[in-house]
Amino acid sequence: MNSRQVTAKVKGVRDDIVTIQMLSNADGTPFPIIKNEVVHICPTRLGVEGRQEFLKAEVLRVRFGEADVQVFESTRGVAIGDPVEQTGHMLSVSLGPGLLGQVYDGLQNPLELIASQHGFFLPRGLEVSGIDPHQHWAFVPVVKIGAKVRAGDVIGAVQEGRFKHKIMAPFGLQGEAEVSWVQEGSFNVTTPVARLKTDRNEIEVTMQQQWPVRVPVSEPLLRAGNSKRLFPNEPLLTTIRLIDTFFPIARGGTACIPGPFGAGKTVLQSLISRFSDVDIVVIVACGERAGEVVETITEFPNMADPKGGSLMDRTVIICNTSSMPVAAREASIYTGITIAEYYRQMGNNVLLIADSTSRWAQAMRETSGRLEEIPGEEAFPAYLDSSVRALYERAGLIENNEGQRGSLTLIGTVSPAGGNFEEPVTQSTLRTVKSFLGLSAERAYKRAYPAVDPLLSWSRYLEQLSDWYSTHMGEDWVEQVKSMQKLLQAGEEIQQMMQVTGEEGVTLDDYITYHKAICLDQVYLQQDAFDPVDASTTVERQKALFHELLGCLTKAREFGDKEEVRAHYTKLTGLFRNLNYSRLHSPDYRKYEGEIKAT
Ligand code: ADP
Repeated sequence: MNSRQVTAKVKGVRDDIVTIQMLSNADGTPFPIIKNEVVHICPTRLGVEGRQEFLKAEVLRVRFGEADVQVFESTRGVAIGDPVEQTGHMLSVSLGPGLLGQVYDGLQNPLELIASQHGFFLPRGLEVSGIDPHQHWAFVPVVKIGAKVRAGDVIGAVQEGRFKHKIMAPFGLQGEAEVSWVQEGSFNVTTPVARLKTDRNEIEVTMQQQWPVRVPVSEPLLRAGNSKRLFPNEPLLTTIRLIDTFFPIARGGTACIPGPFGAGKTVLQSLISRFSDVDIVVIVACGERAGEVVETITEFPNMADPKGGSLMDRTVIICNTSSMPVAAREASIYTGITIAEYYRQMGNNVLLIADSTSRWAQAMRETSGRLEEIPGEEAFPAYLDSSVRALYERAGLIENNEGQRGSLTLIGTVSPAGGNFEEPVTQSTLRTVKSFLGLSAERAYKRAYPAVDPLLSWSRYLEQLSDWYSTHMGEDWVEQVKSMQKLLQAGEEIQQMMQVTGEEGVTLDDYITYHKAICLDQVYLQQDAFDPVDASTTVERQKALFHELLGCLTKAREFGDKEEVRAHYTKLTGLFRNLNYSRLHSPDYRKYEGEIKAT
């Protein structure tokens, strides 16, 4: 089909949902159209300065001779009878060198470029290419003429900042193809660098490829057996003690952070993206208040990367404010995931933070409402659960065509209204993810940061990765961590009791347990994001600290009265906290270590 052919006309408009009527083919039947295809609505009423606008839309539902499409822009001025062009493509992103460091909207429009040319808001109907077509990249092929390649095989590489960006054979390539021509040199992403000959035809390969966002990049490669899916077998080390030790997230795993407003969600996310042991970070800021999103884009580029340079050099931000059209908000998560999968396929460890998936689900709810679908709980569509599951299933550990491992870890935040975790989006997410870091307003109020509630949170990875822990942290690690979780629980119960009876109402033993739990909380769980040393604790240091603290908390000790108990644990807590603030093996560190041993 000609990519600029008018094949339908507008039949009805309701907000951003437009019903289109298919025109007839030469043989008298309606033009074919498929779900998720992208069409352009071309309003006859011209835009500013008499410009013809092309409003991008995605087909949501197809009926005989008709389709409902969702427009990614305002439908102001769209009239019955306006022509509609089909593109023959699904909603796609451009994958290639030049993605890192970019800030995109949900449809991969580069926001900085647009801001410099048009001010902060993208004029309606304007499309800007996701990858700069003017930039040149030095392409070095790794295949020779005559080589056989399959989908996802590496055919060459370019240097993208500090990364070797692999150029792979098109993910949609069927079967095996022969390299019939290849060239080395400096080119932009639209110049052919190789030609591949298949049974049926010969295709030109450039450094960029288009991929439909709703289909996982890895799907055809896994299906054809070119790549493999593996079980996550090691933790994603975040250097946040509470996460790594108590509620770990696997590399290639999934986690959820629900956060009532002000509980420290933003700080926690930025700590995770900064310090986690990953190569690339993709942030999807989806539909929060505009101010917050602006904060994300202005703060991030200035953040120093613990690995050297600026954090932005290895980050991609997808950013939609709640003032942008709802459809683009819904698409933004898929755009982010597809980019993350692309870098995973090269063998990188990628972290995707989606903030917040509640806004994404609300966008889905609005669309479903406009399509008059049968609503489920709280008017969310009945398929909410399966959509959430399908989203998180795109995380995972894979072995790529070259036998290298790549991981995509997905952390989604949810923002339940009024902190009510019973609402459908939080519930669906909890059924899907394997780690839950429940931020609590109460802990934030007490300034116990990170304000993750240890009694509410859980992680299935502690058990699942037990082999890793026995090898790297110690034979009994998982058991020891669990015993410390029990201590926290016991401490909480005693505290509740004391609120009723006062300190006199509990036994000396209970009073000791209570103080041990507080000590564990203050020394180990709480961590100061704004202290240059305490902000990030390596896993080796966590191991040493954990064993040292465990020794102190399990050592048999006689106390005369409650005052002695309090004095002892207060002193111990103070020493450990000073230790946490001291550089490893510095004179201060040794001093506090010595004092702890003597206590
Ligand atoms: P939210 O995004 O949930 O509204 P923020 O992440 O902006 O909340 O946190 C609110 C404030 O709490 C921060 O400005 C900071 O003072 C404090 N805070 C949050 N997390 C930490 C932390 N890990 N360490 C120290 N202070 C923190």
